[in-house]
Amino acid sequence: SPGLYVVSTPIGNLRDITLRALDILSAADEVLAEDTRVAGKLMSAYGIKARLSPYHDHNGAERRPQILSRLADGGRIALISDAGTPLISDPGWKLVHDALEAGHKVYPVPGASALLAGLVASGLPSDRFMFAGFLPPKSGARKAALETLKHVPGTLVFYESGPRLAESLADLAAVLGGGRTAAVARELTKLFEETRRGTLTSLAEHYQTAGPPRGEIVILTGPPEEKTSTPGDLDAALRDALLTMP
Ligand code: SAM
Repeated sequence: SPGLYVVSTPIGNLRDITLRALDILSAADEVLAEDTRVAGKLMSAYGIKARLSPYHDHNGAERRPQILSRLADGGRIALISDAGTPLISDPGWKLVHDALEAGHKVYPVPGASALLAGLVASGLPSDRFMFAGFLPPKSGARKAALETLKHVPGTLVFYESGPRLAESLADLAAVLGGGRTAAVARELTKLFEETRRGTLTSLAEHYQTAGPPRGEIVILTGPPEEKTSTPGDLDAALRDALLTMP
């Protein structure tokens, strides 16, 4: 049926695409792609002859009215990004917003995202988490951003690049506390996939020494230490207080 389909594609392993995603890409009147060359490789790997056109941050404003009029004509339009789920640190939010405002249908076609892949293999609590996207590239702005996240009572998930990993881990340690448990997930679903766990301090030291790692990275930090007191803690505190009373 007509509408905008937000289609997830692989984050590394080419086989991480759903059968429904392939059906929808094959049947779409137009596939909007962040980079048509990247999309072309995926299409040819699956023998799909899609009509590809570019949609990214630099042409979005100009393209949105055309896309909306195609939707109004009953078009089936798919949106993909270079990897994973569109809109997740990738273009598409304004298009989805405007399509809905104009009364069109928007369908998610779920699949891979580095955010969830990193989270589920991190060993960190997954009942509550916050996706914080990319941190600012400059240390001052990065620390200021981290201050606002310091007390979030759940796991934090960040996207990062190899060259910035060590300095980001150092700032995370400085602001959130070096003892916080964390994980660095790298090259998920690819040949050199690796998830390294440790405290923020130990991870910062590791990557400072080892140098910038290759590939794509997700950083995760566990929730802040809870300062809840148990009845046992309370008893011990009272005993201590009695012992030190004059
Ligand atoms: N939309 C994508 C998604 O759903 O995961 C994310 C796009 S964002 C521009 C790219 C960032 O995602 C990378 O810099 C990296 O932080 C993360 N990423 C993507 N693929 C990854 C992978 N295979 N392993 C680890 N991180 C990955």
